[in-house]
Amino acid sequence: MKQYDYLIVGAGLFGSIFSYEAKKAGKKCLVIDRRNHIGGNVYTEETEGINVHKYGAHIFHTSNKEVWDYMNSFVEFNRYTNSPVARYKDELYNLPFNMNTFHALWGVKTPDEAKAKIQEQMREALEQATANADADGNLPDPKNLEEQALRLIGRDIYEKLIKGYTEKQWGKRATELPSFIIKRLPVRFTYDNNYFNDKYQGIPNGGYTAIIEKMLDGIEVQTNTDFFAKRAEYEQMAEKIVFTGMLDEFYGYRFGELEYRSLRFESEVLDLENYQGNAVVNYTEYEVPYTRIIEHKHFEYGTQSKTVITREYPAAWKKGDEPYYPMNDEKNNALFAKYQELASAEKSVIFGGRLGEFKYYDMHQVVVRALEAVRAELS
Ligand code: FAD
Ligand code: UDP
Repeated sequence: MKQYDYLIVGAGLFGSIFSYEAKKAGKKCLVIDRRNHIGGNVYTEETEGINVHKYGAHIFHTSNKEVWDYMNSFVEFNRYTNSPVARYKDELYNLPFNMNTFHALWGVKTPDEAKAKIQEQMREALEQATANADADGNLPDPKNLEEQALRLIGRDIYEKLIKGYTEKQWGKRATELPSFIIKRLPVRFTYDNNYFNDKYQGIPNGGYTAIIEKMLDGIEVQTNTDFFAKRAEYEQMAEKIVFTGMLDEFYGYRFGELEYRSLRFESEVLDLENYQGNAVVNYTEYEVPYTRIIEHKHFEYGTQSKTVITREYPAAWKKGDEPYYPMNDEKNNALFAKYQELASAEKSVIFGGRLGEFKYYDMHQVVVRALEAVRAELS
């Protein structure tokens, strides 16, 4: 008999949901995290009465009612709707790409005028694609993010709002990036600045840490604890391991390193009530070294006398840095598939989450994956 049923490596959303459900089913869990706090990237911390999103803006959104109800069963969510503003030099535009953006760019007022303008802007990209159509006239899929963006929204928006932001965010040319990244953003012909298309959206009242604390209530948790520091010992402790860290690290990088993108956050408390009038302002030109400034109080309609802002700087990733974004291009996905072969042969390790599955998951997708994993395990 081992001391624990499950050792959960990582106190992020995946690990916390798994532990909560396992405990509810009578299982004994130990959760460890190498950071000095629980919550992983959704961690929030109070400063000046404001819940600061320590690892960048986190807006929960989903169309899945079960997921929404599940999260709201821990802490109720407010009605926050993400509507970032993009700043390109001295110009301001609404995101995602919608009638407000099109009007500010070209002065168009109706959806038909906007569509005609975008059609004109896309002509060059469509002509190129048409030249490479197959015998049935099907256009080839866009090969990279630049082609995708030009075919989705045309040249002006690509040049002002996408190219610079994307290239600094990912540290690569848009022609070297996979097209799926830009498909995350809606394009719509209504005056609607809601960044997401999902049915449900909001921020948990009191911050995300309050949710994770509830999930981990009554479960043994050790922070500042790295699985790899005492791997052999941990492997003896529990019947099974739930691993939400990097899969390549788990296997000693034996096939080579997967690529990630990192970030650096610089926060400041300002003796001001309202710095930028919006929670998220994106800086889309390449020359500004950060991608966005977050003003945290606006996520919860704060009226405090001070404000906290965070500049988010993209950064190259090397071993030892925080791997915020998996680089899901062809090369890395192929390398990951090799690690996944090893992983699928494991009898007593379950891999999950953004790092364990090497997927650019949003929170709602992690909730689904964690519930699926724990239900399969307990059934
Ligand atoms: P993580 O939160 O990364 O948790 C994994 C944990 O494992 C970490 O705490 C890590 O320290 C720990 N760990 C790793 N290796 C070890 C080890 N060897 N030993 C011990 N512990 C270890 N999603 C949205 O839905 N909406 C958003 O607006 C949004 N914004 C985002 C903004 C940014 C800047 C980023 C980076 C992500 C954003 N996300 C957003 C995605 C969201 O953060 C993730 O989907 C979610 O947090 C992933 O949870 P996880 O448990 O898989 O991983
Ligand atoms: N993007 C952009 N301009 C913007 C915002 C986003 O070009 O003002 C692109 C960029 O490539 C980014 C992708 O769209 O990586 C996805 O944006 P999202 O806001 O979903 O990124 P995340 O919040 O996950 O960093």
